[in-house]
Parts: sequence; structure tokens; C-alpha cells
Amino acid sequence: MLRDTHLKINIDHLEQNIKSIKNYCQDTTVGAVLKANAYGHGSKYIAKSLYEMGINTFLVSTLLEAIELRQESKDYKIIIMGHTPDAYLKEIIAYDIIPTIFTYEQAKILNKLATTPICIHLKIETGFNRLGMQINNKIIDVIKEISKLKNIILEGAFTHLTLKNRESDLEQFNKFQDLMNQLEEEGITIPVKHVCDSIGMVLHPDFHLDMVRVGALIYGLESEEKGVLDIKPILSFHTKPSHIKTIRKGESISYGNRWVAQEDTVIGTLPFGYSDGYPRNMYSKGKVQIRDHFYPIIGVICMDQCMVMLDDTITLNDEVHIINENMTVENVARIAETNKNEIVCRFTARVPRVYIKNQQIIHIENGLIK
Ligand SMILES: *Cc1c(COP(=O)(O)O)cnc(C)c1O
Repeated sequence: MLRDTHLKINIDHLEQNIKSIKNYCQDTTVGAVLKANAYGHGSKYIAKSLYEMGINTFLVSTLLEAIELRQESKDYKIIIMGHTPDAYLKEIIAYDIIPTIFTYEQAKILNKLATTPICIHLKIETGFNRLGMQINNKIIDVIKEISKLKNIILEGAFTHLTLKNRESDLEQFNKFQDLMNQLEEEGITIPVKHVCDSIGMVLHPDFHLDMVRVGALIYGLESEEKGVLDIKPILSFHTKPSHIKTIRKGESISYGNRWVAQEDTVIGTLPFGYSDGYPRNMYSKGKVQIRDHFYPIIGVICMDQCMVMLDDTITLNDEVHIINENMTVENVARIAETNKNEIVCRFTARVPRVYIKNQQIIHIENGLIK
């Protein structure tokens, strides 16, 4: 892997998470959300693993993410949940991607560009107010017009919940379903209707419809939401010390000499920093685990390195656990005052992803070299 600082991705846990999700969803299709490099876990290898587990619907946010997956396999069904600007719609066709559409104008452009019918998913606005067709007295006619375009297949329709509370989610769900029912009455049947993300899926089993769009839960990131599901984190983050030394009382550490030794202190330098994705504001609050002990991060965290206060038992050969089952993504997110998704999707290409199954390394993804 050519670098000590690396992410471990546990494919056995991934498999277990998928099993519990599938079991919970019964007949509903599980669409796996692989945006943001599969929440930092490496979308190419996660897609391959999920495909082997029987999942073939992958959702991303952008065209480039979709093309990245398409280059891996022509068998994946790839849906872009975000907006694709008109200028890139010919790539949607060239790469056989399913776009999210919310205007008649875009549907018309796609229809013109396509030489054979292509599938689209319609996004409906029900209260999030991010993307989607607004429900008004024209929407039925507009969707009718879209359905008449000869190269457009209205495969899907979806909306996104704000997750404020059951009452508000139900209101959104009902708006969506009312519209779907009205369309049915007009003879327009959309086969793939979907509204739930991970939390929606767990909280509202009655909203599953034809597909759920699951991200966080696949990666084991929704501990408090998991309820009846048996979900485990799949990612951990590790390194090894690059330098260990003792500094004298009064000497200081890192930029601005902000941390000053109150006594002679063993200092370990660790080869990871904020450019790997670790939050810089973990400074003076973060901890790493070595063997059975936690050691505090001291001094300002640099772009590529940081320092910890050690004791004289630690050697250069000890593995350092930055994120693991004791110092979890959730712990780090709380200390860094953000959410779990942000912590994992920040990991950069510079950090090798090492995929583990049955305690064996089965694949290493290095984002920098081929
Ligand atoms: C990111 C996203 C999801 C997945 O959300 P999780 O909470 O990670 O499951 C689902 N739907 C849309 C529209 C999204 O943008």
C-alpha cells in the first residue's frame, strides 16, 4: 500500500449490513447510494462488492461519479439524483445513465438527443425545497407531456424527506402519493417510486414503495437510527508513528508553539493531517488509540502530520488507531462538531483504502497511482 496511513474497509460487515437492510425491506429494491466516493469508502470497490451481494442499482449525485461507475461495469444501473446541466445531457445517453429530471425543457432536450428510448426519474418537490417539480395545477399536464415524448421512458419518480418528524414526513409522503394516484387516473403509471433514505427507511416502513435509497446505513453510520437492524461500521483509520522523541519541559509543539510541555514529554509524530480528511479542529480535543491506551493529539494539526503525547512504552512499530470501534466516526464527528457523513466523505484520494474480508486483504485502492 506504500503508505502507513490507510483506511480499512471491512467487507464482512458490509455484507452483514446489506443482509439486515434487505431483510428489513423485504420486496422493496435496495438502491445503494454511492455518491461522494461511497461516503469515502471507495465507490469502485464498494460497487463491485455490492454487485456480488445482489445489488445492481447505484445512485450518485453527479455525472462524473456516474461515469466513474459506468467505466467499471456496463451491468450497473446508475441513477444520478442531482441535476445534470443541459450541456452534459449527451453524456447521459452515451454512458447509459439514468438522470433526474424536473423540467419539461430538459426532458425535451434529452428526447431529441436520444436515438433509442432512455429512462428518467422525475423529482417531485414536496417540502425539502432543494430540487424538484413543484406541485401546482399544471404539473399533471407537464408530466403527461413528458410521458408522450417518444424517446423518454418515465421509469421513476421520487421525493426527499426532510426528516423533521413523523407528521411532516407523512405530509410529504401523502403529497407525493396523491400526485402518483392522480397520474394513475390519467393512465400514467410510474413503476419505480421512491422516497426513503436510510433514516426514512428505518422510521417509516410504510413509505418504502418500490425502492429505498440507502447510503449511511450501508456503511454502518446510523447507529441511533438502526432500531431493529443489525448494522456495523465498516471503516477504520490507522497509521504508524513516523518519529518518537522526548522533548524538554518548556519546549513546544507545532505552529505558533501553541502547546508547551509542562514536563519532559515523549512526543510521537504521526503521518496524517487535515489534507487526508481528518478535521483540523480535532486539535487539542482528538485522541488516538495505541494498544489499550488513548493518547491525546497536541499542538496544531498540520496538513500532513500531527503530534501526540505518548509514553515510553510505544515504539515505531506500534499500530495507531485513529478511528476504530473505540474512537468511532460518531465520536470524531461530535468532537469536530459535524455529522458522521462529513467525517467519512472527507477522506481524500491520498489515503489508500484497504479492503478486508475474512481478516485477509482482498484489495487495495490507491487513488494516486494505477
Ligand atoms: C444522499 C441521499 C440519500 C442517501 O441518504 P442516507 O441518509 O445516507 O441514506 C438518499 N436520497 C437522496 C436524494 C440523497 O441525496
